[in-house]
Amino acid sequence: MIALDQPGLTSGYAHFHNSTDKSAWQSVRLPIHCLNGTDGPTTLILGGMHGDEYEGPVAIDALAHAVDTEALVGRLILLPALNLPAVMAGTRLTPDDGLNLNRVFPGDPLGSITQRIAHWLSETMMPLSDHIIDLHSGGRTLNFAPSILIPEASSQVSLAKAVGMAFGAPFTVLIDEDHAPMTIDAVAEKLGKVIISSELGGAGMVTQHTATLATQGLARMVAALGHLPVTGSPPTSHYVRLPSPDKYLICDDDMIFVPTVILGDAVHKGDIIGHGRFIDRIDIKPRAYVAPHDGWVLCLGGQGLSRRGDVVAVIAQDVS
Ligand SMILES: [Zn+2]
Repeated sequence: MIALDQPGLTSGYAHFHNSTDKSAWQSVRLPIHCLNGTDGPTTLILGGMHGDEYEGPVAIDALAHAVDTEALVGRLILLPALNLPAVMAGTRLTPDDGLNLNRVFPGDPLGSITQRIAHWLSETMMPLSDHIIDLHSGGRTLNFAPSILIPEASSQVSLAKAVGMAFGAPFTVLIDEDHAPMTIDAVAEKLGKVIISSELGGAGMVTQHTATLATQGLARMVAALGHLPVTGSPPTSHYVRLPSPDKYLICDDDMIFVPTVILGDAVHKGDIIGHGRFIDRIDIKPRAYVAPHDGWVLCLGGQGLSRRGDVVAVIAQDVS
């Protein structure tokens, strides 16, 4: 582990013991960069919580190599590949134990590699930090219009909203998820920290558009937190709400979902969002999936083939 109080940029690794069929005494080495400027707040910036989401690692790596620490106020702690085993496998879950890092918080010091990374973050890194930025994308199976997410249950919603809007994503989204108690958001709230997350693309890809937006948006958000001078105004962001899960459009049976909209489109209740084609069945006609309410196409399935129970679309609603 590196020293977190050295002036300027310090880079190194946080080491975690692991023992697998492939490597009995393995050292999992998570890259970590610490940038120290003048006295000020600490912001912890995380990428790679899920291993098939690429905009976060790209934007954090770019930030680590771009910040002038002479101009920096406070401290940035950057972890571009938090779940390194999953990032290097290109998978959402950790291959060694099959766990989802963002469903095992606050973690367990005596648990598997995923549980120990969560515990280290909860007990060591998060208490040091004033703000936490946790960058996600849709992974292989979902694709999002680039969005910043604000937990509605946060006691600091207005600050999180102001900083989130500074990112300049097309959407800034209030969320209230039923699995929140298992996630990093719950630890942040318990510790009284501001947490902001994202969904910056998906389908297991990184594109020129999403990588550029993620890199520029993260820099704008770091400036909005007071670490660097603010330069210019961010692009406009729609402030919306994630609907409850019963309003998600869900696949009824294995099918190819063919959207009739693109991410970011405005839609009205009853508009056709896409058609499901049950390609292995001669007895089921194509089915139209329609918007359950007015709003914006926030998320579409990330793969052509959808299985029964998969989400094929989510329509965000304006915040009234
Ligand atoms: Zn994720």
